[in-house]
Amino acid sequence: MSVRVRFAPSPTGFLHVGGLRTALYNYLFARHNGGKCILRIEDTDQTRYVESAETALIEACRWAGFEFDESPEKGGEFGPYRQSERTDTYKKYSKILLENGSAYYAFDTSEDLDKMRERQQKSGLAPKYDRSIMRNQYTLGEDETARLIATDEPRVVRLKVPITGDIRFSDIVRGEVVFAARDIDDQILLKSDGYPTYHLANVVDDHLMEISHVIRAEEWLPSTPKHVLLYQAFGWESPKFAHVPLLLNPDKTKMSKRHGDVFVDDFKNKGFFPEALVNFVALCGWNPSSEREIYSMNELIEHFALEKVNKAGAIFDYKKLEWMNSQYLRSYEPIELAPELLKILDSYAYPKVGVEYAAQVIGLLRERINFLHDIPTFGDYMFTRPLAFDDEYKSKHWKPETKANITPLLEIFTSLQEFSHQALHDVVQEYVASKQMALKLIIHPLRLMITGKQVGAGMFETMSILGREEVLARMKSFLENNP
Ligand code: GLU
Repeated sequence: MSVRVRFAPSPTGFLHVGGLRTALYNYLFARHNGGKCILRIEDTDQTRYVESAETALIEACRWAGFEFDESPEKGGEFGPYRQSERTDTYKKYSKILLENGSAYYAFDTSEDLDKMRERQQKSGLAPKYDRSIMRNQYTLGEDETARLIATDEPRVVRLKVPITGDIRFSDIVRGEVVFAARDIDDQILLKSDGYPTYHLANVVDDHLMEISHVIRAEEWLPSTPKHVLLYQAFGWESPKFAHVPLLLNPDKTKMSKRHGDVFVDDFKNKGFFPEALVNFVALCGWNPSSEREIYSMNELIEHFALEKVNKAGAIFDYKKLEWMNSQYLRSYEPIELAPELLKILDSYAYPKVGVEYAAQVIGLLRERINFLHDIPTFGDYMFTRPLAFDDEYKSKHWKPETKANITPLLEIFTSLQEFSHQALHDVVQEYVASKQMALKLIIHPLRLMITGKQVGAGMFETMSILGREEVLARMKSFLENNP
């Protein structure tokens, strides 16, 4: 059997990271098995439709580093891939269900339905369509039903769910799943506006598009027994199901906007690398090994297995994502990242620097930050003279005798042949040895004069990148202004 999976979002807004993970798992599974990953837009709920959402979600997946094999924009032999363009198909299939007795017409008004729910609530029952007393094909009889249809009375088509027994299916992540039929509502399949509900459209399309595995979020698990009944009603073999666990906040509540970032675009705008976000969400709920954390897309494809996805909700640990980003930041060649840093620097009023210099600064500072965009603030002194000098640091390390200790270095640095990391190191070592002085009595004042800050990268490396002229200028200006 060839593997065909689909990501089937409703275009209602930005792509949630949970959606990204679902899309990614589908993609990884398809690629791992040499199959196809399809994008199907489930846009039959016109009330929730957002026009730009489809493009936004394709862009978000593209940014994350994957493409679909068949989609509304690419086409494919199973199209159209937008459900709103397939409404005739759903009508046709709802007729089959009506004819074989698996579905029926119902004519209830929304007031009647509200009253029914109120009654059920009062008597402590779960709200559920009561086929035996409401206005439908069974209570009205065939003749009256035919008459109402002929006069075009507003109506819906409902699934005839068995009253007793169990509905079972096996789920690759969750094992055997059982629902009692009495808990399942007579789901509306076709609405009065002629549009299908999610359930009908989803099942018909999964069948017609020859989907082999349905990989989706756990929140759709309660819908699955309805889908199983639909597959049976059509006499179709159902795809295999895999419901992946929800993403949770560290306090185990469902991940939502109220707690912070949830959309792929938020993470993109925060400066996360797509590779880091993908690596991280892939490991939310799945990990092929207990120690390793860093996987490229190709490695994720190589290792991905639905059987290893956990049942329990997956905590979205923001701190860990930041850590992961820092790992990626350290793994790239600085020169690859330099153009991006130059773009970031454009929004600062610093004098312009070249791409080579930007790469050197990245190499210098990246061990100490999580994001590329931390550089202009964490390492502001690499682009401009120190704007301020840390008072606490100064009072600790600038003593009455410091000036005399530092001043000879101006000469020494000037006559150095090469202003390199190593040469600076050697010459300062020599100097402190000759004075029988601790190295820190020099290093801290140098850091203060040159960067203004207490934390930063190795001082000699910092100085060699800044260059002799700049270092001497900063030292002189500080010495002039401080006793
Ligand atoms: N349209 C549903 C959604 O928005 C699809 C669920 C499924 O994959 O079946 O997520």
